[in-house]
Amino acid sequence: MASSSSSVQQASKERTEELLESLAEIRSRVKAVSQSNSSPTLVAVSKYKPASDVLACYNHGQRDFGENYVQELEEKARILPADIRWHFIGTLQSNKAKALASIPNLYSVQTLGSIKGATALNKALPTDRTSPLRVLIQINTSGEDSKSGIPPLSDSSSLENSELVLLATHILKECPKLRLEGLMTIGALELSLAASETEKNADFERLKETRDVLDRYLKVTYPEALDRWGDEASRRLVLSMGMSGDFEAALKAGSDIVRVGTGIFGQRPKKS
Ligand SMILES: *Cc1c(COP(=O)(O)O)cnc(C)c1O
Repeated sequence: MASSSSSVQQASKERTEELLESLAEIRSRVKAVSQSNSSPTLVAVSKYKPASDVLACYNHGQRDFGENYVQELEEKARILPADIRWHFIGTLQSNKAKALASIPNLYSVQTLGSIKGATALNKALPTDRTSPLRVLIQINTSGEDSKSGIPPLSDSSSLENSELVLLATHILKECPKLRLEGLMTIGALELSLAASETEKNADFERLKETRDVLDRYLKVTYPEALDRWGDEASRRLVLSMGMSGDFEAALKAGSDIVRVGTGIFGQRPKKS
C-alpha cells in the first residue's frame, strides 16, 4: 500500500512560514559557499520535530531528511511521502537493524561503525530492495570518548590492519546489499569554534585525509570492486561533515553532505 501524507497534520501558517524562511536561508548559504561544479546534499535533520514540520519542508522541495532514532524514523516514514530520502544518522544498534532495514525509502545509513553492524544490516535488508543501501562509515576524527566512530587513517598508519580498512573491505567483500558511499564525522565543537576564516578545521582535514588514503588503497587493492563504492560520478568516497554551526566551513573544506537540524527547525527540546 502506498503511504499517504493525508494523515499528517498540517503545520500552522506561522510555523510553515518560519520553516520555509529558515530552509531558504540555509539553502542560499549552502549555495554561496559551494564550488560551482558541485551540488552538495543538504540533509534536513528532523529528530524530535513533528511530521508536520517535515511535510512543510517537503512541500517546498526538500527531499533529504535525517533522523537519529529508529522508532521515530519508522513512525515518520510510515505517514510521510514515499519519495523522501531518509538518512539514518543515529547510533546503530544491531538489534534495531531489522526495523531500520525494513523502511523502504531508507536512503543511507551514515553511522556505520563496526563489522557486526554491517553484517546485521546486510542480513536484514529485504532481497527485493531495488538498489543497495548506501552506508557511510563514521570516523571519530576528534578522538573524544563521547563520540562514536572508528579512528581516522594517516599515511603512516598500518593500513591492512586498521579498523577502517578491515570494515571497508568487509563491506565490499561480504555485504552485497550495501554500497560503501563514504565517510562521516561529527567532530569536536571546540575545533569548529576555534577555526577562524583562515585557520583550517582539524576534524574536516582529518576526514578528508582519511578519505584520500582509503580511496587510493581501495583502487589499488580491489580494482574488481570499483563499482561497489563511492559516488558514481566522481569515483570518490563522499564526505558527510558539517552541521548547523559549521556547515559553511565544512563545504569550503570539500564536504559533499551537510546535516543541518537547528538551523532549519530551531532548537530541539532538551533530552530528559
Ligand atoms: C542532531 C545531529 C545533527 C544536526 O545538528 P544541528 O547542530 O542541530 O544542525 C547532525 N548530525 C548528527 C549526527 C546529529 O546527531
